[in-house]
Amino acid sequence: MFFEEGDKNPSTREKQIIEFWKDKRIFEKSLEQRKNCPVFNFYDGPPFATGLPHYGHILASTIKDVVPRYRTMKGRYVARRWGWDCHGLPIENIVEEKLKISGKKQIEEIGIDVFNRTCRENVLTYANEWGKMIERIGRFIDFENSYKTMDSSYIESVWWAIKEIWAKGLIYEGKKVLLYCPRCETPLSNFEVAMDNSYKELEEESVIVKFKIKNGSDFSGASILAWTTTPWTLPSNLALVVNPEFSYVLAKEGEEKFIIAKNRSSNYGLDKKIIKEFKGGDLAGLEYEPLYKAGLSEEEAEKSYKVLSADFVTAEDGTGIVHIAPAYGEDDYKLGAKYGLPVLSLLDGKGKFIEDSPEFIQGKKFKEADEFVKKELAERGLLYKKEKTVHPYPFCWRCGTALYYNAIPAWFINIQKIKDRLVELNEKISWHPNHLKYGRFLKGLESAPDWNISRNRYWASPMPIWRCEKCKEMKVIGSVAELEELSGTKIEDLHRPFIDGVKIQCECGEEMERVPEVIDCWVESSSMPFAELHYPFENKEAFEKRLPAQFVAEYIAQTRAWFYVMHVMSAILFDKIPFENVVTTGTVLNEKGEKLSKSKKNFPDPWEAIEKYGADSLRLYLMSSLVMKGEDLFFSEKELKETYQKNILLLLNVYSFYKTYRKEGTVDFSLPESGHILDKWILSKLNLFIKEVTEKMDNYDVVSSARKIEEFINGLSTWYLRRSRQRFKEGDSEGIKTFGYVIFQTAKIMAPFAPFVSEYIYKTIGGEKESVHLSDWPEANSDFISKELEEDMDETRKIVAEVLRLRSEKGIKVKQPLAELKIKKAMENIQKNESFHKLIKEETNIKKISFCKEIENDIELDFEITPDLKEEGDLREIIRQVQQIRKEAGLTPNDKILVRFNGGEEICRMVEKNAKFLAKEVIADAVEKREEDPNVTGQKKLKINGEELWLGIKINKK
Ligand SMILES: [Zn+2]
Ligand SMILES: [Zn+2]
Repeated sequence: MFFEEGDKNPSTREKQIIEFWKDKRIFEKSLEQRKNCPVFNFYDGPPFATGLPHYGHILASTIKDVVPRYRTMKGRYVARRWGWDCHGLPIENIVEEKLKISGKKQIEEIGIDVFNRTCRENVLTYANEWGKMIERIGRFIDFENSYKTMDSSYIESVWWAIKEIWAKGLIYEGKKVLLYCPRCETPLSNFEVAMDNSYKELEEESVIVKFKIKNGSDFSGASILAWTTTPWTLPSNLALVVNPEFSYVLAKEGEEKFIIAKNRSSNYGLDKKIIKEFKGGDLAGLEYEPLYKAGLSEEEAEKSYKVLSADFVTAEDGTGIVHIAPAYGEDDYKLGAKYGLPVLSLLDGKGKFIEDSPEFIQGKKFKEADEFVKKELAERGLLYKKEKTVHPYPFCWRCGTALYYNAIPAWFINIQKIKDRLVELNEKISWHPNHLKYGRFLKGLESAPDWNISRNRYWASPMPIWRCEKCKEMKVIGSVAELEELSGTKIEDLHRPFIDGVKIQCECGEEMERVPEVIDCWVESSSMPFAELHYPFENKEAFEKRLPAQFVAEYIAQTRAWFYVMHVMSAILFDKIPFENVVTTGTVLNEKGEKLSKSKKNFPDPWEAIEKYGADSLRLYLMSSLVMKGEDLFFSEKELKETYQKNILLLLNVYSFYKTYRKEGTVDFSLPESGHILDKWILSKLNLFIKEVTEKMDNYDVVSSARKIEEFINGLSTWYLRRSRQRFKEGDSEGIKTFGYVIFQTAKIMAPFAPFVSEYIYKTIGGEKESVHLSDWPEANSDFISKELEEDMDETRKIVAEVLRLRSEKGIKVKQPLAELKIKKAMENIQKNESFHKLIKEETNIKKISFCKEIENDIELDFEITPDLKEEGDLREIIRQVQQIRKEAGLTPNDKILVRFNGGEEICRMVEKNAKFLAKEVIADAVEKREEDPNVTGQKKLKINGEELWLGIKINKK
């Protein structure tokens, strides 16, 4: 068979079990046997195969395995198919490096065909590594038959969606200010920027610049002081803006006069030099001299270089006067649009200044230009002040390049028009943890800008919009057949550059061409529910059955990314929620709370951790962590090891005891009917365990369920088994049967969480099905659950703990029997049942329990050690030592032995007196005094009451 008896190495055993699952097609069978059952839908977000899987992926994969396994056992059909995210910047960046090129110009020089072919060839580079990891952690999923977002069928479904959204009037082309990466040469969407650590604290020099007021007003000759952290945007300055409600002042410093917000004036010593005070509104309309000559038309220039007012201006830093460059800021752009300002963009696609810029910065990169602008302004006497400022600055999450706001043409989905519906539909979604529902997710919905769905890149689904340059007519294509018909072209590939060459005859007589943009890959991942099935071209019925999904899971940052975009898509296309239950996890960090970094190697390699402790331990460790409630996990190998010891090892240890007690061939897992209090107690515990895990799992509370496992195994081992070993040894068959039944049921409950060890136990204990993963989820039998019994047992264990504490306080070991334990009458429920007394007496080694009202404390112990008690304690110690010697010598209880002893006078007399009793206890043929013999099978020397005692054992050959 696939498991060798006694093989305790978790990794070896788990690998054998993987082979068994593959060989016997257990996953496939688990689906087949539920084929006609109600479905449980689950969406798996497609990952990129451009990097190796890490703990974050293992975490997500584990939840996505635990929940479907559980639902399968509960009688649902849970289809599971792997998918790959194939398009977009992750692979484009890798290919640029591979081809040793950088930027759009060079990509176009080598050819989009070469570039995209290379992307296609490399996008699944690490697919095999992923496959190995997914298999090793025990995830049941159809990996071979995976869907890919680059498949024509997938793209066609995305096109269908775009056309539908277009038809609803929700797609528009706009120019919008977006954070832009000059290296990737594309804008980023708001949720890409919101993810993780896009912003870093940056120390920079901010400047205060003098803008001279034109002649012909009350303020002639004065300069407005405006503050900026981005001097490179000053050549694009087209306006200044003040807050109409704030107080501003005119101050005289030397020969110059300055305008500044009143409550900022003291920062520059201008509060002492005030000559006039007025409201911001009074400044509106003032004209000032432009800092630089820009190529504006007369009409454009007419509208520019004025003081405007807006209430977004704050006086928290700077001067209370903001410089406006509509091309380079979100507020700037909006304000510019309101006042009809032009958008003066002086950067090319790579973030370098173009020829229209002032000569001294032409060809320079945007950030490089800061120094030159400051120097040039200083030379002209226009720089009022420079100061160090620390502020958060955004960087590209893909390539790490500093981003800047840039106004570029782009396609949008109008989120504002559907926002109310998005908020309404959120009511129907259950979020785990629940605070996300009205917290992060709702807040995200409420503040969501329109969704920029276009990218100016290459390896992606192309935007299916064709446009006539002459008459501006547009056509959105929703299927391959439609495009073939309209273009008269056989469509061989939906990717660029092929698709760029496909033209459509316009009604005006000209040809329509595809717009150059491609589709944001988030549109693809949000289309996964229908695009995976090539809906609506195929699988119509299957898709309708899978919307909404019952369950999705990802880490918390996806709240504003994948979860959000799926919600948008589903609301627009189907007016439905995409999923009913969302489980979000936190982020896995290293022990010190740092982000896991492959280059820094600041965390244990997952493969090594799995090799050492097994995948079950890693799964249980992750599932019982608060990372399951959206909090960060500080990954600790020490805690992983503890999880291994307290769950897997302890359970296997319990199981191995069962195997020694159980008689060969007796496999009977019908309900046991033992009357023993410990059996009743463990059955109550077991059924409560089933009940609670079922309730928690039904409510997607994976972490509480996983934690119950450790708790249960602990009770099973440290109380039930510990207190039952003697009766099992003596052959209590009902007890042993109960024990087996409990382990058997435990294996089933653990199956979704720790699929390997449960399979091992289920198969070796004699489970009736081919695999534990083909068995049904156990049902809790509430007849067995006794709250009273559990409370009494808790009380009993509390008494035991207290007695042991008192003993250790006095320094009296447990093996030394004591005469009496007095328990206060108040603890009445223990009094009525002798069985509890017996448990307490055995566990604490006390002869007698009495109940009395008069004692002061709840529990009192008689610490007097009479000669009889002393002798009994010594005998216990001798018995323990003989058994130890026997064990060390590798002998079993079946080997016939003779015990020899020698040593001090007193102790020898005592042993001799009790020789018969000792022989019976240690199962020896005789206990005899003999000369010390170095050639015995095993021996030991100990000290008892200051005297030496030599103990030896010999095999009895007679
Ligand atoms: Zn970038
Ligand atoms: Zn036309």
